Amino acid sequence: MRQTLRLGTVMGIPVGVNWSVAAALIIVAGVLARSILPAASPGVSGGIRWTAAVLTAVIFLASLAAHEFAHAVVARRYGVKVVSITLWMLGGVAQFEGEPPTARADLRIAAVGPAMSGALALAFGGAWALAGVAGAPATAVACLGWLAATNVLLAVFNLLPAAPLDGGRILRGFLWRSRGDRVSAAHSADRAGTVLGFVMMGGGLLALLAGAWLDGIWLALVGWFIVTAARVEDRWTDLREAAEGRRIADVMTPHPAHGWTWQPAGDFAGTVARTSRQPVFPVVDAAGDPVGAVTMIRLVRLRSEEAATALGRFMTPLDPDRVLGPEEPASALLKTTPMRGGLIAVVAADHRLLGIVTTEDLQRLVRGGIGDSRSTAA
Ligand SMILES: [Zn+2]
Repeated sequence: MRQTLRLGTVMGIPVGVNWSVAAALIIVAGVLARSILPAASPGVSGGIRWTAAVLTAVIFLASLAAHEFAHAVVARRYGVKVVSITLWMLGGVAQFEGEPPTARADLRIAAVGPAMSGALALAFGGAWALAGVAGAPATAVACLGWLAATNVLLAVFNLLPAAPLDGGRILRGFLWRSRGDRVSAAHSADRAGTVLGFVMMGGGLLALLAGAWLDGIWLALVGWFIVTAARVEDRWTDLREAAEGRRIADVMTPHPAHGWTWQPAGDFAGTVARTSRQPVFPVVDAAGDPVGAVTMIRLVRLRSEEAATALGRFMTPLDPDRVLGPEEPASALLKTTPMRGGLIAVVAADHRLLGIVTTEDLQRLVRGGIGDSRSTAA
């Protein structure tokens, strides 16, 4: 989930919102101001109603963030790095780097999120009861009641035993512990996620047919999101499984076509690139170290007046962590997202370019197209 707007950094974790969170804010505030609050306190002016509705919607988003922070704090305790927390239309996403080390860690990181939502529900519920007894304005009482109910819903919904929901992770943790096999546990949780997602999409369609179009669209949207996320996770699990016990040298495409930083771009495009089927080419400096990459698409678009310019001017520089050694474990490849042209890593040692790894190589790895002589060197 992309952060459109960075709100700030809390406990070293960048917190932001995706643009789609605006839709959630408008829908929540709209439903509150136009149907829930008028029913609770009919005599109140529109201005007060809308102010209370917007404020409640913002507090609702803050409770989503608190849920994600609970995950983040426990994850960190188990050594899992938290890259960011992003709020979007359908909730919050805490992005982790790395996987929980044990089934127990998996269970705890997952369970604390719904526990936080449950605690918030209790707090808002207590405030709602107190406000009612103390004779607070009906609008405030209604807002507190809505926040309590919504956090109960959040806790319950997230406990559904289907990946990528927290309940799916809890299921994965339990199965992992009982089967002793993380991969098969993850596949089971992902399958449960796919089934739940399709059931929700079906339910959404029925609701739409019954005329409840807002509920229907929302349910179908959440279902679609769950199916998509469960499938992505399933592929990710396959990839992790396929990478296990292999070295980068087992996965890479060796002896890739490549260029030099000082070489005229037109020369490279007209000779090496013209006869190659690679989508992307590493670029090497005078010392022999790979320093960048240029895509086939960029070379095809090369204008005639650019032909004499050095190839280095057209390359995208390589991050140092994208240059890996051949003996490193293949799992190191799963930490970087692909660059343009699908380039994941450049393999080099002793100022010598040895290979490249692209998304195609990883697809081949998952399909089993790479020899199954798993390295024992690791
Ligand atoms: Zn959660």
